Amino acid sequence: MPDITQQRCRNHAEREAVACCPGCGRYFCRECITEHEDRVLCAACIRSRVEAAPKKSLRFQGLIRSGQFFLGLLILYVLFYYLAEILLAIPTEFHEGTLWKADWWTD
Ligand SMILES: [Zn+2]
Ligand SMILES: [Zn+2]
Repeated sequence: MPDITQQRCRNHAEREAVACCPGCGRYFCRECITEHEDRVLCAACIRSRVEAAPKKSLRFQGLIRSGQFFLGLLILYVLFYYLAEILLAIPTEFHEGTLWKADWWTD
């Protein structure tokens, strides 16, 4: 493990390195290294992480959203199915089917 005080910034050869980026293992000066999600990373690593992360989470969110959509449709379908069943069952029970045995459609 080389001594950090002997290291120079990857981007600024004249500047002394203050930190080693855990993402790429390179040394950087105070200006080149930034705190990102409680971790100290160099600009290049942050950029690659930021570019990689939203795509993944967007795809994941889209999956969840479409899943919720189809779940909602399923719930609505089941709800309307049982609602129709109930609506059909009520007159049959109360009128013993006579409501649906109208004369106009028997012949
Ligand atoms: Zn890095
Ligand atoms: Zn620098």
